[in-house]
Amino acid sequence: MILGQKENILIDAGMGLSRARKILKNFSINKILLSHCHEDHTSCCKYFKSSKILVHKLDKENVESISNLQKLYGLNNEKYDAIFKSFMLSLGYREINISDTFDDGQIFDLGNLKIQVIHTPGHSAGHCCFLIYPNIMFLSDIDLTSFGPWYGATDGNIDNFINSIKKIIKFNPKIVISSHKGVFYNGIREKLKIFLSKFEERDQKILVNLKQKQTLDGLTNKLLIYGKNPNQDELLLIAEKFMIKKHLERLIKNKKIQKKDGFYSLI
Ligand SMILES: [Zn+2]
Ligand SMILES: [Zn+2]
Repeated sequence: MILGQKENILIDAGMGLSRARKILKNFSINKILLSHCHEDHTSCCKYFKSSKILVHKLDKENVESISNLQKLYGLNNEKYDAIFKSFMLSLGYREINISDTFDDGQIFDLGNLKIQVIHTPGHSAGHCCFLIYPNIMFLSDIDLTSFGPWYGATDGNIDNFINSIKKIIKFNPKIVISSHKGVFYNGIREKLKIFLSKFEERDQKILVNLKQKQTLDGLTNKLLIYGKNPNQDELLLIAEKFMIKKHLERLIKNKKIQKKDGFYSLI
């Protein structure tokens, strides 16, 4: 929550009901800037009935409709309709009316401070970080977890994600706020570089496993990215498959591997 002279702004609204109530009781929030369309960042928007809700134009449709979000996660098959809807409703998610969209470089001037939109696609197509002048960066899901970057939806993109992390490193922020790991004051550059190195690490794991030819499903079942799936979660496997597939496509493009008759192998 950023309290300005001209207006008060929330970045994302996945704070849970009790925090949302506390905010609503004590402050008036003029705008909510959504970093991207994923439900863990948007599910409390419904409580802020008098706030304008804004998101990057590329994520707008996926915030506005559960069925679009379902497609985004690659759950096109009808068998997922009921499961996905009940999962989303259990999180308290409701479809959201977007008042307006924003684009890279756009500045929100709160009088005493400014917030700049930094478009950082890769995690989702419209994922954005926010620079709170002069040097605090809200990283959202460039989240610095030890898991590493997540691009398990249809709009996830490795090359864009890499460029986005490099873009943030160039800003050289003094304080960063990760949506899933809190606030960091020290070692920010190193933490971002470690996060960035995960792409290469995953490439290498896949290459090692392609010493013998493999199908996409064969590689997916090895859980090279997630490492484990103790609850046999089907949605986790789908995300794993998308992420592996994106690596394979990139490795083919970079002439490291080939695909023949449904099997991937080293060149
Ligand atoms: Zn996300
Ligand atoms: Zn998230």
